[in-house]
Amino acid sequence: RSAPPAPVERLSPEDLFIAVKTTGRYHRQRLDLLLDTWISRNMQQTYVFTDGEDEKLRKRMGAHLINTNCSAAHNRQALSCKMALEYDAFIKSGKKWFCHVDDDNYLNVGPLLKLLSQYSHTQDVYIGRPSLERPIEATERLGTAEMRQVRFWFATGGAGFCLSHGLALKMKPWASDGTFMSTAEHIRLPDDCTVGYIVEALLGVSLIRSALFHSHLENLGLVSDTHSQVTLSYGTVENSRNTVYLKGAFSIDEDPTRFRSVHCLLYPDTPWCPSPRRL
Ligand code: UDP
Ligand code: MN
Repeated sequence: RSAPPAPVERLSPEDLFIAVKTTGRYHRQRLDLLLDTWISRNMQQTYVFTDGEDEKLRKRMGAHLINTNCSAAHNRQALSCKMALEYDAFIKSGKKWFCHVDDDNYLNVGPLLKLLSQYSHTQDVYIGRPSLERPIEATERLGTAEMRQVRFWFATGGAGFCLSHGLALKMKPWASDGTFMSTAEHIRLPDDCTVGYIVEALLGVSLIRSALFHSHLENLGLVSDTHSQVTLSYGTVENSRNTVYLKGAFSIDEDPTRFRSVHCLLYPDTPWCPSPRRL
């Protein structure tokens, strides 16, 4: 093993714009858990993009809750509507890095900063985990009868991904002020694929693969070294739980997603974490 590369750029949490995608019916079920855990430590750089007003959330997050007015349906238009607004809000923020996560992701900001500090925010950087083992194929509709097959890689939205400021600026013609939704329609693919299409197929920039991002499409029980991972997730496959494995502070009944146990492992000084046993 070689030594880790020296940081190219010193980064602090204020350099990040973190967008969390959620929907009304997941506010209690998923978002409250994130607010109790990783978001509580990173409220200043985190923005939650949802589709309905929520008094309780508004009280907790203030202007960090963004009600998009996008439809609450789980279809291509509704999801790309949220991604379009995440992108616009990032550009407006002037921050160095855009990172997107879903509401079933735990984001570990320390390792994220360490990872991103290996690059310059002015370079073209698109980093995450590819969801497929081969590039996706899509049909570009050029004119009325004209079609073209395109192949490109994309980072799965469910594992989280990041874009540098420099690359995001180049994406403007296909992503800003509503054009993202037209681009998604043009290839008829979901929001995360559309990001890959713009970056890889239109701009010719390659996805940087990182094994530190995790979605529930992989076997999360195999993830080790929790401290170093950038994102985690949870889900169910065929009625059985797919979560990270750790003994942790809480039982599986108390903490079925394992996120509370992860949080206590990373931040043992959290008031609701059991106090460390004294010898
Ligand atoms: N989501 C959404 N609108 C919906 C359903 C889901 O914005 O109607 C969001 C959800 O909050 C999550 C992401 O889309 O951030 C992925 O949803 P989910 O985890 O339910 O599905 P999967 O990971 O299986 O694609
Ligand atoms: Mn999911």
